[in-house]
Amino acid sequence: GQPLSHAGLTDISDIFISVKTSGKFHASRLKLVTETWFILAREQTTFFTDTDDAEMNEATGGHLINTNCSSSHTRQSLCCKMSVEFDAYLESRKRWMCHFDDDIYVNIPVLVKLLQNYQHTEDWYLGKPSMRHPIEMEDPSNRGMKIVFGFATGSAFCISRGLALKMMPHAGGGRLMAIGEKLRLPDDCVIGYIVEHLLNEELTVIKEFRSHLEALVLIKPYQLKKQITLSYSRRADGRQNVVNIEGFTAEEDPTRFKSIHCHLFPTFRECRKLQS
Ligand code: UDP
Ligand code: MN
Repeated sequence: GQPLSHAGLTDISDIFISVKTSGKFHASRLKLVTETWFILAREQTTFFTDTDDAEMNEATGGHLINTNCSSSHTRQSLCCKMSVEFDAYLESRKRWMCHFDDDIYVNIPVLVKLLQNYQHTEDWYLGKPSMRHPIEMEDPSNRGMKIVFGFATGSAFCISRGLALKMMPHAGGGRLMAIGEKLRLPDDCVIGYIVEHLLNEELTVIKEFRSHLEALVLIKPYQLKKQITLSYSRRADGRQNVVNIEGFTAEEDPTRFKSIHCHLFPTFRECRKLQS
């Protein structure tokens, strides 16, 4: 093991928050993140992207990393970024790695409270499965044999230091990318394969990790405060899948992130115009 900074209760400084993004999303998704939840975790959050952007690097307090991974939405590019994120986490020596996509709102105080319920020295893989069934496929290193494993959807998951250290021989130093190639699966499935198949550990389901794979409109306004992540998307029929919450107008806040942020933290300066 590595020396830990302190022995007390987990706090925000014990979490390595990594956000995957891409140059094409800096002005839209990333800007929205830097204007909302990022304000509560400035020192702890790092953005992993694929282009240099001096302005955004400044806005994130120098926390924008160009992974030099390709800027395409391919398996290779996504595994490449996750691989860089994982190595950066190991180097950080922090108790927890929490990964989020750039279209996720993170409720920081509730995330911290969640992690206080688990020992970082034990093996924990916290997330939410994206499908009802786990992946069933032929074992790439044992032809003819079937393997079955679950995984947390890549939009939001956390891994304890204890588990990350066990994952290191499989995922560290770019090996995560090699496994992605072998399996021909995206980054979130690769993490599930390493944790559930290679290490025989299990995903712990956190139902408050919401993503746009769910109908966000179904979350009741009174339930919002206890959700850990929220998101937004446009559905195939062109309609928005967003949280149902009062606040800014649909024009001012099409994703509802600003309204969510002001609902949770009404004393923020940007929220004043909502007070009547
Ligand atoms: N992403 C990326 N490169 C791309 C497309 C997407 O790094 O070419 C990132 C994006 O910033 C986000 C994640 O991958 O953090 C998931 O992308 P998106 O939300 O567009 O797709 P989803 O899988 O949710 O449908
Ligand atoms: Mn998404």
